[in-house]
Amino acid sequence: MVLINANFGRLTPSYLFSEVARKIAAFKAQNPGVEVIKLSIGDVTRPICPAAVEALHKAADEISTPEGFHGYGPEQGYAFLTEKIAAHDYNGLNISPDEIFISDGAKSDLGNFGDILSAENRVAVTDPVYPVYVDTNVMAGRHIEYLPCTEANGFNPQLPAVSPDIIYLCYPNNPTGTTLTRSRLKEWVDYALANDALILYDSAYEIFITEPDVPHSIYEIPGAERCAVEFRSFSKTAGFTGLRCGYTVVPKGICGTDANGQTYSLHSLWLRRQTTKFNGASYPIQRAAEAIYSPEGQRQIRENIAYYLNNARLMREGLSALGLKVFGGVNAPYVWVKTPEGISSWEFFDLMLHRCGVACTPGVGFGPAGEGYVRLTAFNTLENTEKAISRLANIFKEN
Ligand code: PLP
Repeated sequence: MVLINANFGRLTPSYLFSEVARKIAAFKAQNPGVEVIKLSIGDVTRPICPAAVEALHKAADEISTPEGFHGYGPEQGYAFLTEKIAAHDYNGLNISPDEIFISDGAKSDLGNFGDILSAENRVAVTDPVYPVYVDTNVMAGRHIEYLPCTEANGFNPQLPAVSPDIIYLCYPNNPTGTTLTRSRLKEWVDYALANDALILYDSAYEIFITEPDVPHSIYEIPGAERCAVEFRSFSKTAGFTGLRCGYTVVPKGICGTDANGQTYSLHSLWLRRQTTKFNGASYPIQRAAEAIYSPEGQRQIRENIAYYLNNARLMREGLSALGLKVFGGVNAPYVWVKTPEGISSWEFFDLMLHRCGVACTPGVGFGPAGEGYVRLTAFNTLENTEKAISRLANIFKEN
């Protein structure tokens, strides 16, 4: 019989979202008259902006003609898109278009990047954490160290005690919605340079940043171009969760070594990996992504982001007024709520669902340090967000 990758047997089954869905379905079956408001949704809900839709139509018309047909494109993405990204998202940061690799989204890139890194590397992740970092490293057989992010450390993890080779950072953070200041991110870059570590920096929520002291890219920190790879996505930026497009920046100055001490450029290895295993994101989708860099595209996507950030603000203010401790939601679409004293994540989830018909995501599902918290997302409609807050207010007033 074929031998499987035994590391898959070491994965912890992920019950989080299926358990949330199961509990909501059971509640609905028992309470058919109650409309459940899902502040648990991790997907955007606003439609694709007109500028991107127009580009999709135009690309579809183009490929229907012999002159405009596009077959296989460059595996690393079309220059029309990488040039826009370099000029707009990395303006003044010395990132060239050929250091940007277009893909079908950040999740694939975050998972696939491990292909070019040894299974011997020790990995550090923040806790609570986006589960993809953990599971893809378990699949590869790597050892993982957790860096707790708590109220006591302001959700800023301490620098690791045992020096890891790979550090995953995600800012603005999913699930806590918190960020790092420029000086704090500099500490991480300095640490990585001093300890020969590689930072895998996930900035999928960059567009939600509103505060001036929060870096939009890790390359704003001098030296990051020698120790950090950055992952970005059009999913939350422009609502492309279904269209699928993202990109990864691999500066040419980052090197790794093999067991014999020979050095390799990570850029060359990633190019080799992508050209071997990936055939590029589709032409119409890349044209749609390009369209969000036009002035009207920028205005349209930022209108949607402002809509979500307003929902986040309402949740923060509404829940704080009820006496709950609330974090995040200023530079991110996630609000991290501390459960009342003595109530666990799942108990608070049950209470919100059964007493208010509002669904959240239990924080403990993102890692042990998430116990005692729940995550709310800003992706529902304004009307439902307001309704959910007033339902919560009613039960808090009763008690
Ligand atoms: N990174 C983080 C932190 C996320 O929360 C998500 C999606 O929820 C992704 C990456 C995945 O992005 P994509 O849709 O581009 O695969």
